[in-house]
Amino acid sequence: MSKYQMDSLFVEMDSRLHGNDNGASCHHIIRVAFESAADAEFDYLLPDELWPIEAGQRVEVPFGKKNKLEVGFCVAVEKRDRLASLAMTQGGQRQFKLKIVIRIIDKEPLLSAELMELARWISSYYVCPLGQVLAAMVPRAVKKGAGARTGRYIYLSIADKNVDETARKLRGKRQKQIVEHLQQKDAFSPEAALEMRAVLAEIGCGREPIKKLAQKQIIKTVEKTILKSLPAIPKGMSIKAEKVVLNEDQQKALAHFKDEIESGKFAVTLLHGVTDSGKTELYIRAIEQVLRKGKSAIVLLPEIALTAQTVQRFNARFERIAVMHSGLTAAQRNVQWQKIKSGDADVVIGARSAVFAPLPKLGLIVVDEEHEPSYKQDTAPRYNGRDVAIKRAQLVNAHCILGSATPSLETLTNCRSKKYFSLVSLPKRVMNLPMPQMKLVDLQQADFVKKGMNLISEPLAEGLRQTLAKKEQAILLLNRRGYSNFIFCPSCKHTLHCRNCDVTLTFHRSEAPGRERMRTVTGKHIASGYAICHYCLAQTLVPEKCPLCGAGLAMIGLGSQRLKEELDRKFPQAHVSRVDSDSMASGDYYRVLKDFSEGRIDILAGTQMLAKGLHFPNVTLVGIISADTCLYLPDFRANERTFQLICHVAGRAGRSEKKGTVFVQTFLPNQPAIKFAMAGDFDGFIKEELKHRKACNLPPFWRLAVVTLRDRTFDKLEIACNRMREKIDRIIQREKLRAIVRGPMPAVISRIQRFHRMQIIVQAPKAEILRELFNGLRGERPIRPAVKIAIDIDPVNLL
Ligand code: ADP
Ligand code: ZN
Repeated sequence: MSKYQMDSLFVEMDSRLHGNDNGASCHHIIRVAFESAADAEFDYLLPDELWPIEAGQRVEVPFGKKNKLEVGFCVAVEKRDRLASLAMTQGGQRQFKLKIVIRIIDKEPLLSAELMELARWISSYYVCPLGQVLAAMVPRAVKKGAGARTGRYIYLSIADKNVDETARKLRGKRQKQIVEHLQQKDAFSPEAALEMRAVLAEIGCGREPIKKLAQKQIIKTVEKTILKSLPAIPKGMSIKAEKVVLNEDQQKALAHFKDEIESGKFAVTLLHGVTDSGKTELYIRAIEQVLRKGKSAIVLLPEIALTAQTVQRFNARFERIAVMHSGLTAAQRNVQWQKIKSGDADVVIGARSAVFAPLPKLGLIVVDEEHEPSYKQDTAPRYNGRDVAIKRAQLVNAHCILGSATPSLETLTNCRSKKYFSLVSLPKRVMNLPMPQMKLVDLQQADFVKKGMNLISEPLAEGLRQTLAKKEQAILLLNRRGYSNFIFCPSCKHTLHCRNCDVTLTFHRSEAPGRERMRTVTGKHIASGYAICHYCLAQTLVPEKCPLCGAGLAMIGLGSQRLKEELDRKFPQAHVSRVDSDSMASGDYYRVLKDFSEGRIDILAGTQMLAKGLHFPNVTLVGIISADTCLYLPDFRANERTFQLICHVAGRAGRSEKKGTVFVQTFLPNQPAIKFAMAGDFDGFIKEELKHRKACNLPPFWRLAVVTLRDRTFDKLEIACNRMREKIDRIIQREKLRAIVRGPMPAVISRIQRFHRMQIIVQAPKAEILRELFNGLRGERPIRPAVKIAIDIDPVNLL
C-alpha cells in the first residue's frame, strides 16, 4: 500500500454533520484518492448499510476543514480493527475519528483489480498522484453517464401460474390488458421488466391503471438507466474483408506470434517492417489467434492514424469491436466503454487512452507506430501509451506487439538487452512492390530563394506535371501550419511576437480557426489575415505597418496555405485540396480523404497528418517541401524525427504496381538524418545516432526527467527553481544516487500564456534512480514560494 499520511488522514469529526459513530455500525475502513487533492490517500469509515464496496468504485465523502462533499475513488478496503488500532498507536494521545462515507456512486467498480494495479504503477513511475491517474483512466463521458436515460420499468410480482386467475378478478379493462401484456413478454423479474412508457403507449392509456396494479401488489416498478446504442464506426467507405495469402516473411512472423500467444506468458515483440510490408494484416491474424483462445485484444494507433479507413479495415474482419478516439461524442464514448466493460466487445481499437480499455481477459496489445511521440500525454499523468501497454501486458501475462517502420531507439535497444523482447522483421513490401525512387532537391542550388520564395522547386514542379499528365495523384507535405512562419519588417527586422508567449506569430489568411469570417484589413504588402499564436491560440489582426518604424510588413517562411496558393497558380487545371488541423473539422477531414481516394482531388497538400496510415494506390508522387523543419527544433531527437518523417512520407508513394517517386527538398543535403533517409539506410542511421546518444548520456542509454516550473512572476519563479534544485541535490547526496542535474534554465519556449517557464533536467543511468529521486521529493514539504511544477519522466520533447 502506498504512502500513508497520518496527519491528514485522521481529522476530528464533526459529529453534528455526520451523526455519532458509536463503533458498531461501521466495520470497514476504506482508503480514498481524490483527483483534486494532495498527493495522498485518505481513510473513511464505511457505514455497514453501504457495505459491500470494492476498490475501483467511486464514493462521495466530506473532505477538508469545511467538509465539502467530494467524489473520490475507493482504492483499498480494510477491516476496521486493524486500521483503528494503527490509528491509536500512531495518533498518540489525541482521540482521532474518521469521517464517514456518504454514498457509493458506482454499482460496480469502474476499474478492475488489474487496472488498479496498473494505476499504482503509473502513479509511482510517472510521479503523479494516484487520484489523478485514476481520473484519467476512466473517460469523463463514463463518469458523467453521458447519453444515459433513466426510466421506470414494470414487471409482474406474482407467479406465472397465478396470472390468469388474478387477471380474471380485475375489473378495469386496461389493468387486465397490462397484466396480459407483461405475461406475454415474460416480464416476471426486475431484469425482464418492460419500460413503462412503452407499455403505456402499447396499451394506449395513462398511468392510473399502473398505479392501481401497484397498490394491489400485482406489479412492481424499478428504475433503470439505459444507454441508447449509438454506432461509433463510420459508414461510407466500404472495405472488403478480403483475405490475402501471407508471404514467407509474414508467415514466419505469424508463427512467432502464435507461439507467444499459445505460451500464455508475457513477452514483447517488435515488428519492424517497412510501410506496406503487411504489418496491419499480421495484427489482424494475431488477434484472430487470441480470440480463438477466448481472450481479447487492444490495438493502439496514433490519433491521426485512426482514420475511417483503418477502423473499417478492422471492422470488416471482427464482429465484436469497439472504438475509442477523440472523434466520438461523449454519448458514443460512454456506449463504447460500457460495451467493452460488459464484455460485448473483444477487440478495442483506439488512441493512447484506449490502453485503459476495461477489457476482461486481455490476451494481446498491439501498439502500431510505436515510435510516435503522440503516445506521450502532455498533461498529468504524463504517461507514454506504449510503455503503459507493455506494463499492462506484463500484469496480465499478455503478449505485446510493437509495430513500426522506424522503431524508436528505446525499443531497438530493449530488443538487444531485455530477455522478454524479441525482434521480427518484414524487410520487403508486400507483393514485392519496389520501394519508391528518392530524389533530393538541394534548395541552395535550386534558386529557391532568389525567385521570390517559391515553395515548389523546378524539379518538383516537373514531377507534378508528369504525374498530372498520367492522371495519377500527388501528396505534398509541409510540416508547418499557416500561411507563413513569421511576419516581419524588412527595414527594421522587427518580427511580430505573441503578447503572451515567447514565440513568433503565424500568419493565417482571412479566416481564423473557429471564427466566422471577419472583415478584412487590406495592406500594401500583406493580404487580409490574422496572426495566430499556436501555443495559446491568441489571435490579432495583422497591422498594415510595422509598429516600430512604420514601413510595410512582409512575410517569410513556409506555410500550407501559401503552398496551396502557389499550387493553384502553377497548376490551374488541377484540383488541389489542403488538409491540416487549422482548416479541418473531423467531418471535413474524412470528406477530403474520401474525395481524394475517389479521384476527385489531384493534389493533396497538408501537414504531417498526411504522413500516417493512409492508403491511396493512385498516389505516385510525394513531395516534402522542407525536410529541415524538424531539424531546427532544439531537441536531441530532432535527427530521429526527421529521419522518421522522410521514411513515413516516402511510404505513401507507389502503394500499387505503379512506380512511386519521392521528392525531398532541403537546404541541408549533407545532414546525416537526411542522407541516411534518402538512402533508406535504417541500420546506418541507428548506428550513427546511437553513438551520439551514448557519448552524451542520453536515452536510450540513460533516462531523462524534466522538471518544468512556471509562474507569471519571474523573480518568484527563480527563487522556487533554486529551491527545487537544492532539494534535488540534497536527495541525490543523501541517497548517493548517480545522476547529472542541469539547470534551472529557461525552457526552449521560455514563456507560454504569460507564464515564464524554467526547467531542471535530470539524467540518470537507470529508471530506478529517477524513481527513487522523485519519490524522495514527493515525501518532502512543497516548494515555497508555490509555483506550478510539472515532472515529466521519459519526456518525448524538451520544449
Ligand atoms: P502495413 O501495415 O505494414 O503498412 P498493410 O498490412 O496495411 O501493411 O498491407 C498493405 C496492403 O497490402 C493492404 O492493402 C493489405 O491488405 C495488403 N497485403 C498485406 N499482406 C499481403 C499479402 N501477403 N499479399 C497481398 N496483399 C497483402
Ligand atoms: Zn501565445
